[in-house]
Amino acid sequence: MSTVPASIAALHAVLLPDEATVVRALPPALDESQRAATLQLARKLVSGARHRADERSALDLFLAEYGLSNQEGIALMCLAEALLRVPDDATADALIADKLRGTDWRMHRGRSASLFVNASTWGLMLTGTLVQLPESMTSDPGSWIGALVRRLGEPVVREASRQAIRIMADEFVVGRSIEAALARSAGSADLQLCSFDMLGEGARTAADAQRYLDAYLHAIECVGAAGHAAGDAYAHSGISIKLSALHPRYSAVQRRRVHSELVPRVLELVRVAAARNVALTVDAEEADRLEISLEVVRALAADRQTRAWPGLGLAVQAYGRRAPAVIDWVDALSQELRRPLSVRLVKGAYWDTEIKRAQERGLAEYPVYTRKVTTDAAYLACARRMLAARADLYCQFATHNAHSIAAVLALRGRRQRLEFQRLHGMGALLYSEAQKLPDFPPVRVYAPVGAHEDLLAYLVRRLLENGANTSFVNRFMDESAPLDSVVQDPQIELAALTSIASTRIPVPPMLYGAARPNSGGVDFGSAAPLQALQAGIDAAAADVAPRTAPPFASEARLAAAFEQAATAQPAWNELGAAQRAACLTRAAALLEQRRDAGLALLVREGKKTLADAIAELRETVDYCRYYALEACRTMSAPQLLPGPTGERNELYLEGRGVIACISPWNFPLAIFSGQVVAALVTGNAVIAKPAEATPRIALWMTRLLHEAGVPEAVLHCLHMDGRAFGAAALAHPALAGVVFTGSTQTALTINRALAARAGAILPFIAETGGINAMVVDSTALLEQVTDDALLSAFGSAGQRCSALRLLFVQEDIADRALTMIGGAMDELVIGDPADPATDVGPVISAAAAAALLQHVARLQPAALRIKRCVLDARHARDSFVAPHLIELADAAQLDCEAFGPILHVVRYAQGGRGQVLAGIRASGYGLTLGVQTRVDQNWREVFAGSIAGNTYVNRSMTGAVVGVQPFGGSGLSGTGPKAGGPHYLQRLVRERTLTVNTTASGGNADLISLR
Ligand SMILES: Cc1cc2nc3c(=O)[nH]c(=O)nc-3n(C[C@H](O)[C@H](O)[C@H](O)COP(=O)(O)OP(=O)(O)OC[C@H]3O[C@@H](n4cnc5c(N)ncnc54)[C@H](O)[C@@H]3O)c2cc1C
Repeated sequence: MSTVPASIAALHAVLLPDEATVVRALPPALDESQRAATLQLARKLVSGARHRADERSALDLFLAEYGLSNQEGIALMCLAEALLRVPDDATADALIADKLRGTDWRMHRGRSASLFVNASTWGLMLTGTLVQLPESMTSDPGSWIGALVRRLGEPVVREASRQAIRIMADEFVVGRSIEAALARSAGSADLQLCSFDMLGEGARTAADAQRYLDAYLHAIECVGAAGHAAGDAYAHSGISIKLSALHPRYSAVQRRRVHSELVPRVLELVRVAAARNVALTVDAEEADRLEISLEVVRALAADRQTRAWPGLGLAVQAYGRRAPAVIDWVDALSQELRRPLSVRLVKGAYWDTEIKRAQERGLAEYPVYTRKVTTDAAYLACARRMLAARADLYCQFATHNAHSIAAVLALRGRRQRLEFQRLHGMGALLYSEAQKLPDFPPVRVYAPVGAHEDLLAYLVRRLLENGANTSFVNRFMDESAPLDSVVQDPQIELAALTSIASTRIPVPPMLYGAARPNSGGVDFGSAAPLQALQAGIDAAAADVAPRTAPPFASEARLAAAFEQAATAQPAWNELGAAQRAACLTRAAALLEQRRDAGLALLVREGKKTLADAIAELRETVDYCRYYALEACRTMSAPQLLPGPTGERNELYLEGRGVIACISPWNFPLAIFSGQVVAALVTGNAVIAKPAEATPRIALWMTRLLHEAGVPEAVLHCLHMDGRAFGAAALAHPALAGVVFTGSTQTALTINRALAARAGAILPFIAETGGINAMVVDSTALLEQVTDDALLSAFGSAGQRCSALRLLFVQEDIADRALTMIGGAMDELVIGDPADPATDVGPVISAAAAAALLQHVARLQPAALRIKRCVLDARHARDSFVAPHLIELADAAQLDCEAFGPILHVVRYAQGGRGQVLAGIRASGYGLTLGVQTRVDQNWREVFAGSIAGNTYVNRSMTGAVVGVQPFGGSGLSGTGPKAGGPHYLQRLVRERTLTVNTTASGGNADLISLR
């Protein structure tokens, strides 16, 4: 397979400069006269629409009344997102109660005449017939919904709510099937020109992808059958497709599979579409799929069979910094291949997701702009570029914003062929006003097709996006907002800004403030950084990863280390927190500089996948910076305590002496370093013993800390057999405390050894494992459950103490959930951890693999079902264990922690959550816990009913971030305090108070001089 085309790889460079630099490079789109004409026209369109306020669509009315700015709107959206997929009545009732209770419906009293929005809608649904409701009911939704809430649990309320949501969905969905959608389109003047999309969540399994492919093919056939085989492809309806629906692993790191499996599938669609002359647009999705989507588009465009056909196109998101470059790229591609193409310019639908992801991934910059006005200005800059391109580029402008529409008209020049687009249910009134203008271009409607149950989660996301109070759709009909504030010139607004980047959204490196830079991550969606990373790792590997392990250190060496450490510790303690913290800050910088060497070691010695290795290196950097800051905060000066006058009371924190740090192989860098740097920064000397399987990483980090300024006498890393180390170190008289992460068994052994010592009683921090559970009820979104369960159970080959071991699924959705999880397991890539495409690497050793397989064999007779991923001859080369899903009748059958890619599943009955929680508590462990539910009361109950140290709601349950989710459990899972939390350092210090009687010599001068 070819490498990434240079022109696509080069797009990454646009992401590197800061936002202000990128924005300044955008040429102004409109000249003076175009600006004035645009403003005038936009205002005319808005005031025209306002005069026809009573013709607004139900969805527009809904957004006006229940936008994101009020709790009730959010409650209704949350209900809509989940209700129709809930199969059992009891959970549906709980969801309705959860969302409708406690919100202030009185605020919406009589504010809308809409059937859809007003309480009469709900009344209609209650009775099931269209009746004239009493005035009291329609004018006061507050009292009406109050009455409804009091009757919660009654079937009539449940049915009413379901019906309400279906009505809401009908506003968005053109038809449940393509046939129904076409029939509706044929009968509606507004829907003559559509782009149909067979919407739903992205595919997670091969079966999902096949279902979507079939649906798209069928849709093309049906649209084509309407009889437009010849002529202009854009003169009639077309279809839009999402690549994420057509392949369960559509992402940049799965490039090989995208080219070999997805491209042929989409090509089949394009060929059928070309044969039927049904225009086909590839929708734009998340920013980290941009480059790979362009590779797919390139492959489609290069198809000789369809080269003369002009109906192929793609959507480009103007909020993305790369958009202008993408438009140039499409134009160049069209020239190179001599193929007409279309571009649908949108602003973009994933803005909040992009911001969150970039922060989580520690990217240098956001892929999108941080102010709405910049997106609006960029839209115009992109529009100008498109309209200036050759005629072979067919221009489509998707927007509901009056200014954007007017600006496109101003920029249009002599360009005749272009079209506007809007979402079904939105913007109809505005376009109806616009269509009064002479020579106004055609307007196409983006028309979702599908079953309500499958579409609602997606549609609610769209609703939320357009319900934001920055959104034009949300504001333009609001009579209280003056025209001038609704229609503004983004170029003028932008020029008036003192800071182009939003001052309320810190760039990802500044997420934790200037004092603690966020650790830097890697953009896996772009070829350029990924290739550079791989080259760097290969180059570093030769130096840092010798094949043979270093020899064990002798007991004599250990004794000498203790002696040196004990001697050096007082001076290190005297140095003060600031200087010790500076060593950690330097270490963090060195770690980032030598990232590739660290990653090479993690991949080679720790068998980490590339993504896991990066996450681990970042965690290590975070530990260094976080503990440095915490030490400065708590130890730089004595804490002054309150007391009686004439007396000064101070609390001092200082190092305890020599701390033994014993770490495991599963996080050979992060846990090793977290323990060590915490002990060091608090003024202790450290004797560290890394896991026997991963000494080289620990030795590398130790050298790095020495280089950062930690004296060699203060930090010793000794590669030793665990028992030999324990026997000597735990009994050593200089020992002042122990920090341990590993199995509960070994923690107990250490605890007994410490208890058997004569003399001072030492502090002991232990972080151990758990039988971590995730509880899923029937309101959960199965696609999300699947993603989170797979990542939590099989990420790092299940070798995380936080990993998911036991999945409890409500029986009403269990079959569907297990089918989807099983199908997604078939798509996992199990292989070489150095390959970015790999999801699951080998387990740490052959012995570990054998123990895991033994565990499976032991459970096999009792298992209700076992699903295992397929391994082949390539996997015989290392200690691979196939990911397993084992269904058990009873959670008690799982009585130990199986430290590998093995997920156990137990079904529970609705109403059985209490029993599930009792079972989780009975295990004695309390480390991590996941909950997937849309009922807030349910996750609150789960949280309250468990002792888990870390509870995660509606997300994966691994990957705790330093300072964000301090990590560690209780019960059999650990002693606390939490690693990466504000109380950790306190366990490693000696606390001393100093009380000085300031009146002893000469009386209480302060008191006497008071007036
Ligand atoms: C026909 C059609 C097809 C579409 N296809 C796609 C598609 O393939 N892919 C896709 O992603 N979207 C698609 N969309 C959705 C589209 O992106 C949104 O509907 C669009 O964002 C709304 O733009 P507007 O001009 O109507 O609204 P406006 O209210 O003028 O603008 C909203 C835009 O501003 C952005 N924004 C909000 N706050 C900020 C901020 N602080 N900083 C920067 N930007 C901000 C929003 O994310 C949004 O993009 C499509 C829309 C239509 C009508």
